[in-house]
Amino acid sequence: MMTFRFLQLFEAGRLLRLILFLSVMWGISRNTEAQVLLGSGTEHCSHRNAELKHNRLTPGPAAPEYDVTYLEFNLNIDPAVEYISGSVLTLFEVKKDLSSGLKMQLSTSLTVDSVLFNGIPVTFSHTGEYNLHIAIPGNPPAGSLQNVQVFYQGKPVSGSGFGSIGWKEHNGVPAMWTLSEPYGCRDWWPGKNDLTDKADSVDLIVHTPEQYRTASNGLLLTDKVEGGIRTCHWKHRYPIVPYLIAIAVTNYEVYSDMASPGGIPVEILNYVYPEDKADIAPRTAQAVPVMEIFSELFTPYPFISEKYGHAQFGWGGGMEHQTMSFMGRFDFEIIAHELAHQWFGNMITLNSWKDIWLNEGFATYLAGMSYEHMFNGYYWPFWKSQNIAYVTSEPGGAVYVDDTTSVSRIFSARLSYSKGALLLHMLRWICGDEVFFTACRNYLNDPRLKYGFAGTHDLKAHLESASGKDLTEFFNDWYYGEGFPSYNIVCRQLAVGEYEMEIRQTQSHASVSFFEMPVPLRFKGPGGDTTMVFDHTFNAQTFRIYPEFAIDSVFFDPLQWIVSASNRVNLIKKEDAATCYPNPSAEVVWISMPDLLPESFRLTDCSGRIVKVPLVVEASGLKLSIADLPSGLYFAKLRSPDTSRILKIIRQ
Ligand SMILES: [Zn+2]
Repeated sequence: MMTFRFLQLFEAGRLLRLILFLSVMWGISRNTEAQVLLGSGTEHCSHRNAELKHNRLTPGPAAPEYDVTYLEFNLNIDPAVEYISGSVLTLFEVKKDLSSGLKMQLSTSLTVDSVLFNGIPVTFSHTGEYNLHIAIPGNPPAGSLQNVQVFYQGKPVSGSGFGSIGWKEHNGVPAMWTLSEPYGCRDWWPGKNDLTDKADSVDLIVHTPEQYRTASNGLLLTDKVEGGIRTCHWKHRYPIVPYLIAIAVTNYEVYSDMASPGGIPVEILNYVYPEDKADIAPRTAQAVPVMEIFSELFTPYPFISEKYGHAQFGWGGGMEHQTMSFMGRFDFEIIAHELAHQWFGNMITLNSWKDIWLNEGFATYLAGMSYEHMFNGYYWPFWKSQNIAYVTSEPGGAVYVDDTTSVSRIFSARLSYSKGALLLHMLRWICGDEVFFTACRNYLNDPRLKYGFAGTHDLKAHLESASGKDLTEFFNDWYYGEGFPSYNIVCRQLAVGEYEMEIRQTQSHASVSFFEMPVPLRFKGPGGDTTMVFDHTFNAQTFRIYPEFAIDSVFFDPLQWIVSASNRVNLIKKEDAATCYPNPSAEVVWISMPDLLPESFRLTDCSGRIVKVPLVVEASGLKLSIADLPSGLYFAKLRSPDTSRILKIIRQ
């Protein structure tokens, strides 16, 4: 899922981001082909908070007694009326003793009319906020397939998380939609509502007044009108978690784009408001190259025998409902982000909300990769700098979610989205492109995970296996740990063609004592330009380098691989090493210069006349007593075996 946070760009103290934003806006005017609003995919705004109905949530009780295999929705919806009625049939396999009944969740703002177990009416209780408890006669044996159908109706209370179900007019026409992530299924349909139990397939049959169409998961099997009622029947034959099941209803206009990832045609089916079609159609077309890029970098589009699609809805951001993302905006980055979720989040779903970065970090990073591969790469550096600036705008915060009852923490834009994306970016840096993408493909193709669930340890295992590296320390620092490093780098010339690099690091948060990291530095000078990588494993570590040119400038992390801020680079050339202090002075001046030859020392006044002063040679340099000189400007001429230098000295 994704929302956007433009308004934050204008917060006080975020001038850097404003400047970046403006420079990118300038870029947009140059790249007229690009309908790009950089940052719309990775950022959240107060808009988001306005849409967050309830932050504190608790998931329902676990129900390991049964495993959902199939769902059939049969719903009556008129978007002009905030009311829902119908039934949901759940086919399930018995796993454990069901003598104490079947646990389901449904908001008690909705009324359950009746429940059938294998077609026979059974008793039930509907209590508390969400507890639907169904009596199961005969205690069916483990391994057997059973079904239960719940008939219900009422006015849903737009409750959990981001609203669960919404109604909002567009251009005077009623519209309704659902958005269940993370726990909101129970606000509009009765079911097990378990993050880690995918149905193998689902049918969604929705009856509406004939002027409306329903958008949903999978393929549209039938769309027929009878007696003023339109029935749209959608069927999805891939495993799907409850929160990715969704419907949206209004007077949609429908059109398609066609992608061809790997030469296999995939329909991108768009349901948009008629009044917005002219504006949106060129934007949805951008999903075509993005799908082809993702399919090439990772694995083929996961739901290739059905479709991908967009359905416009009245919520502020986007939501990656399986095979049909719901879109409040059609910015390029949101389009890429929701499409990326079809691999990361939908085909492989997180097995705990603690690991939300496996959904949002990947989707955010893949949107960044779309910039890397499109628009001649123009936006890619901006994407990186904007995300690094956002992550480092506060000193703390971990990618790992320690409180899954807080919806705003689960969906923290800075941590789960941006820092999660940059964690992947740094893994790519550490492992190298070939290993990183191989590991990602192995992860996506792993039969234990594909169309199922994964945790952070699964991704880590694939990265370790492909790279041969132990990434435990990396994950301790960057996933569980908080904050980021700030680097202080001194590049000191020792002799012609010889330099010493000293790399120091401070940490923004006490939870990490040191970030081990390969540090790239770019060196430029007359006739030379090279980037070297220094394996930084402890503080104040020094390295000798022997470039074939004189270094004029040093750049830290020129391609922005490392999450860091307030970095400093200091180049000390050999001639710069000559210093005199204090200066001006009325008494004594110390002159230090490596390899200074004392016999080469000479002091002259403004007219070039040599001036004799008492001189003492000590280990720390030459001590000049200038108390007897008239006030004025003098020049000290120095020479070492490699260089010579003139320093100005002022006698006060
Ligand atoms: Zn997302």
